Amino acid sequence: MPEGDTVFRQCRILHEALAGAVLTRAELRVPRHAEADLVGWSVQEVLPRGKHLLMRLLPPADRPQAPLTLHSHLMMDGIWFVDEKPLISSDTSAQRRAPHTARAILEARRADGSITRAVGYDIKMVHLLRTQDEHLEVGHLGPDLLDPDWDEDLREEAVANLRAQAHLPLGQALLDQRVMAGIGNIYRSELCFLQRISPFAPTARLQDPGALVDLAHRLLSVNADRTVRVTTGGMMGRDGDLWVYGRAGRPCRRCHGRIARQMMAQPDVEGAQPRPVFLCPRCQAGAR
Ligand SMILES: [Zn+2]
Repeated sequence: MPEGDTVFRQCRILHEALAGAVLTRAELRVPRHAEADLVGWSVQEVLPRGKHLLMRLLPPADRPQAPLTLHSHLMMDGIWFVDEKPLISSDTSAQRRAPHTARAILEARRADGSITRAVGYDIKMVHLLRTQDEHLEVGHLGPDLLDPDWDEDLREEAVANLRAQAHLPLGQALLDQRVMAGIGNIYRSELCFLQRISPFAPTARLQDPGALVDLAHRLLSVNADRTVRVTTGGMMGRDGDLWVYGRAGRPCRRCHGRIARQMMAQPDVEGAQPRPVFLCPRCQAGAR
């Protein structure tokens, strides 16, 4: 599942391609909105909220209506293509997608007369709603680690949310987007390693939840501008971008012990099937 930094980057590229442009074609290939007529609407902005994409639309001048938002989510393997080019990330396969997997096909005329085409393949939760009702779909999310207005209040809210999950395994709490929004499967393993605590240890064992929130905010922020995600500071040379994720059976970069891969259930949140976590049983306290 794409991490918040991937969604952030895809939103920015979509925003640069579409903001201010007027839709000349808009097909939403979901039963609920198959009949939606968005030709003539213009794209106001595309912005992320956690791992959700919000494309805000303004009505044509001669059809005054409430502004709408096209809400979508990349879930496991959704990807947008702009002018046939995939918005590449380290989370999603950039290979060509079968035409029948397109869920949103948008073409828009820009101010200079050129046409931009954006297609969302395998995207989920494709839903058109009034912009003023966005909170009904994303209001449950905790503080967004990539919120441009991230401040001490949001940090404290994230810390309090984390503390409230005292008995939950830390790995589960980190993936719960109601605690804070933006962490996916890769960052949770990396964050637990960097904090030297097992993802299976109860969150209460975390000595300094504020330090973890700060680290999460910092890592997502520095990677928001990169296509290759790095958590090691980039000092490890080739193939040295991550500490533990995807490195099962290979030596720990810190202690040379063997990195383990274990499955972790994820009750009651988006994408609830068990997902792998990677950890160093020697370096991380509370490992099973
Ligand atoms: Zn180790």
